Amino acid sequence: MIVSIASGKGGTGKTLVATSLARSLGDKQSLQFADCDVEEPNAHLLLQPTFSQRKVVFILIPRVDEAKCTGCGKCAEVCAYKAIAVVRGKVLVFPELCHGCGACSYFCPEQAISEVGKEIGVVESGNSGKIGFIQGKLNVGELAAPRVIVEVKKHLNQGGLVIIDAPPGTSCPVVEAVKDADFCLLVTEPTSFGLNDLALAVEMTRKLDVPTGVVINRNGIGDHRVEEYCLKEGIPILLRIPLDIEIARLYSRGVTLVDGMPQWKEAFRGLFSKIERIVN
Ligand code: SF4
Ligand code: SF4
Repeated sequence: MIVSIASGKGGTGKTLVATSLARSLGDKQSLQFADCDVEEPNAHLLLQPTFSQRKVVFILIPRVDEAKCTGCGKCAEVCAYKAIAVVRGKVLVFPELCHGCGACSYFCPEQAISEVGKEIGVVESGNSGKIGFIQGKLNVGELAAPRVIVEVKKHLNQGGLVIIDAPPGTSCPVVEAVKDADFCLLVTEPTSFGLNDLALAVEMTRKLDVPTGVVINRNGIGDHRVEEYCLKEGIPILLRIPLDIEIARLYSRGVTLVDGMPQWKEAFRGLFSKIERIVN
């Protein structure tokens, strides 16, 4: 079973929930933890894995043979990312915008485009105690985060329990991290910003047809509108974590909630039991 932990915006406590869920289950059953927040992976700070493997991630970007190119403009026409342009018959490639989709070389009528590898990130794997740990890291300035996430997901054991720490937001990288999940846990906070971003995230998981539940973090601040929204939309609230300065202190010291406050272990195990019941 794959459980993706996501949030409509950053800073809601997504990694706090993901790492504590992993830690509370990891001594009872084998599982993998995949940090797919590739632009800012930080679960390793809490789970302290030892890495044993490292694999560089490449994309294929176009290289134009000027001797064959007629300047027809077809490549620029088919590029959805504006990563290739034809100016006065000359082809310009912008490698930092290229997502390596291959459309330009596929559609070039003169076979003037070949592809060359460009390094965009890395996938590292190892262990945190009994937990298999994989993380992707996108190089600074690169845009093709989904490509790195695809490479992270190639390391996942089919049929085993996997916890994915997804990127924040609702854009392409999040879709890539959530789309094959059996369940998506959305972490939010009870504020108007939290509600706005939660509603966008719910729209995304509905389009992806992934069953969804909510964890309310910093419960006690704000108002009841997130609760009312979940009730109206039929989305179960599976856990509430109170606003607590000690929890914030633990997180800032790189300690998971269940390691710092072991009384939370049962709550996270209960959270997982609820997810299992919904999925099954
Ligand atoms: S599609 Fe091919 S021939 Fe046409 S401009 Fe692009 S590289 Fe040149
Ligand atoms: S490989 Fe895809 S994204 Fe890159 S320039 Fe060609 S069409 Fe654009």
